[in-house]
Amino acid sequence: MSVVGFDLGFQSCYVAVARAGGIETVANEYSDRCTPSFVSFGPRNRSIGAAAKSQVVTNCQNTVQGFKRFHGRAFTDPYIQSVKSNLVYDLAQMPSGSTGIKVMYMEEEKVFSIEQVTGMLLTKLKETAESALKKPVADCVISVPSYFTDGERRSVMDAAQIAGLNCLRLMNETTAVTLAYGIYKQDLPAPEEKPRIVVFVDLGHSGYQVSVCAFNKGKLKILATAFDSELGGKGFDDILVNHFCEEFGKKYKLDVRSKPRALVRLYQECEKLKKLMSANSSDLPLNIECFMNDIDVSGKLNRGQFEEMCAGLLAKVEGPLRSVMEQTKLKKEDIYAVEIVGGASRIPSLKERISKFFGKELSTTLNADEAVARGCALQCAILSPAFKVREFSITDVVPYSISLKWNSAAEEGVSDCEVFPKNHAAPFSKVLTFFRKEPFTLEAYYSNSKELPYPNCSLGQFLIKNVVPQASGESAKVKVKVRVNVHGVFSVSNASLVEVLKTAEEEEPMETDQTAKEEEEVCTVCTVFARGRKRNSHLSFFKTTTDDAKQEKKNDQPPQAKKPKVKTKTVELPIENNLHWQLSTDVLNMCVENEGKMIMQDKLEKERNDAKNNVEEYVYEMRDKLHGVLEKFVNEADRDTFSLKLEDTENWLYEDGEDQHKQVYVDKLAELKGNSKTPIQKRRYMEAEERPKAFEELGRQIQLYMKIIEAYKAKEEQYTHLDELEVTRVDKQVNDAMAWMNSKMNQQNSQDLTLEPVVKVGEIQAKTKLYSTCNPVVSKPKPKVEPPKEEKTENGPVNGQEGTESQPCNPDKATSAGTEKGTAENKLPEMDID
Ligand code: ATP
Ligand code: MG
Repeated sequence: MSVVGFDLGFQSCYVAVARAGGIETVANEYSDRCTPSFVSFGPRNRSIGAAAKSQVVTNCQNTVQGFKRFHGRAFTDPYIQSVKSNLVYDLAQMPSGSTGIKVMYMEEEKVFSIEQVTGMLLTKLKETAESALKKPVADCVISVPSYFTDGERRSVMDAAQIAGLNCLRLMNETTAVTLAYGIYKQDLPAPEEKPRIVVFVDLGHSGYQVSVCAFNKGKLKILATAFDSELGGKGFDDILVNHFCEEFGKKYKLDVRSKPRALVRLYQECEKLKKLMSANSSDLPLNIECFMNDIDVSGKLNRGQFEEMCAGLLAKVEGPLRSVMEQTKLKKEDIYAVEIVGGASRIPSLKERISKFFGKELSTTLNADEAVARGCALQCAILSPAFKVREFSITDVVPYSISLKWNSAAEEGVSDCEVFPKNHAAPFSKVLTFFRKEPFTLEAYYSNSKELPYPNCSLGQFLIKNVVPQASGESAKVKVKVRVNVHGVFSVSNASLVEVLKTAEEEEPMETDQTAKEEEEVCTVCTVFARGRKRNSHLSFFKTTTDDAKQEKKNDQPPQAKKPKVKTKTVELPIENNLHWQLSTDVLNMCVENEGKMIMQDKLEKERNDAKNNVEEYVYEMRDKLHGVLEKFVNEADRDTFSLKLEDTENWLYEDGEDQHKQVYVDKLAELKGNSKTPIQKRRYMEAEERPKAFEELGRQIQLYMKIIEAYKAKEEQYTHLDELEVTRVDKQVNDAMAWMNSKMNQQNSQDLTLEPVVKVGEIQAKTKLYSTCNPVVSKPKPKVEPPKEEKTENGPVNGQEGTESQPCNPDKATSAGTEKGTAENKLPEMDID
């Protein structure tokens, strides 16, 4: 499986992968570890990430950004309606009522769902991970803000599916940071010691999240979270943009907001200015050339003025900090450290305020930009059997209290019950017991609308089907398992009917309620008595059977109590979900298919563009070379003809050839390369480059054999055994080769370079194969001479010293053996010419 973490940020995304060496944040095709959360739509393709961001000014209405918080929201949602007017691209309502994005794509107006758009971004991030890991990626962990509601989370899960990802966990951004910190810190308290309390602050673009975590070795428990969705980098940008819109309105009489392009440019410049002000407190300029109506605009600002403008926003820092302290009932002195991450954590006044609140220096142990992605990758590695990670049990929290309500004729109205209070541990399952004669519906909702940054409290309805009375006509016992899963999403995950088969006067067997033991989940059995009475069921309704509760149960029921023995059979019941904004399987499948088509279209377009670029590059390259390295190999007439051809092609590229099919460019390139004299010229150039080396090698071989022949003629000992006839033949061959080489070299040197070479490199290389006929002759081994037998017996090698020359351990023997051996060895062939 792949081990990948994606930080799906409002402004930028990061990808971290686990490799043998550890967790690594990987770079995209621009060698940048940060991928902007932008998708741009064009007449032929989409661009995603950095390529899309570069089109934000030129193709602003079809370049989509800042869509992270559109997930799981109706088009009519107040948040959508409030941001809509500030966007330079259009939003539209999807048939389901959710938010869609309207753009021109492939020369047609298209509305894409938010899941599709995020799916596109994830496709890009997936490709980045794939090219880093050099293998297909599916399994991953994706981050979401801790304050995301179920609808928003389910929508991101759908987006992951559209991108072909298997999201093993949607991880809260602050929890991912917490895990990265926990794995990084080596000195956490032992499991039995008092946990270390650390506050995490993520100051991103779209908001500000705070969480409090208790750490022990191998154990990480989130205690509380809080957030502010205004206090992010974007809030500061908005203030700056407003300020300059007003200033330029007065100073230059420009209505900036009337021109989307100008507004986008102003946002870009204001963000740059904001970043500069983090590092510099003096006056800083803001200049934009040809801003609107050909007017250049300029302004200036310093940090002090900026902080004054943002006083209202900065005052929001304390709210979430105070909130987590109140929720956890901790005192400031209980806090061991305050770790800050996120791009906007670089704003000095924010840091000062947080630091002042806790009376502590802030800690920046982690990489502020990459911590979320790294935490996600760590979580993925923990989930993967292939990686050995220091195990951490991670307990997150339920961000908003969740209740269930149900309606039943027998109950004469609505009953409700809070199943997961705020900050309840998650993931977690509970089992509720109902007594019913017929199918019934449970509606899940967030109990406290005030704490919800979302207009709709309903999570969805769950219809428990196929419920029938017992054979006796009484209500049947129905067990319903509710859970908040690893993604932080609530569901009624299972329902079963307990059918009573037989009753006998026997001791009651052990607990029939099946505790929903699941990996990583603490299970509780809860019983809701709802037999024909209306109950406002709250926590008092639950009989928990965690360890404590089980004890309680045993005490309640003495083991010796005789009760009718009940034999039961459990029947699984189907559940029909009606969840808000969850894409239906059909829609999801269609989106997956469409994403596949768009990926293919992008690929084809890339190939087409590459083919076009190849023609263009060839034109430029050849033009350079005709006046450069190839100059001396081409005569003037040929050069002129070819230059003209190149110029024609260049013009064609800007006119008829601007927008052609890939094959047209491929053919064009082939035509340029084939029909022109280029190949000849190129070959001449290549020949001229390679020729000296080939001659040198041939010369080297000729010399080598000449030396051997000389040595043979001088009757040197090692060659005396060679066959005279054969040596004479080698001698002739070598001399012929030398004559051939000298003559060719002379002819070539007097040849004009613009003409075909006199001799080809290939021919020289063929001549260089002298060794195939010469070598066997000159390296023939000397015949062996066997030493006399008796001597070998007496003076043969002793104690494994055979063949060595260091034998004189016995000087008497050594002398004769040495002499004898030496003679014999000298007769052996020693030379081996290769
Ligand atoms: P979110 O977490 O809200 O989804 P994100 O993860 O994309 O958003 P980050 O990348 O953490 O956000 O932070 C981006 C924000 O940080 C931007 O508003 C950016 O302008 C701001 N930022 C980055 N560097 C600096 C700096 N040096 N000074 C001020 N602000 C900065
Ligand atoms: Mg972020």
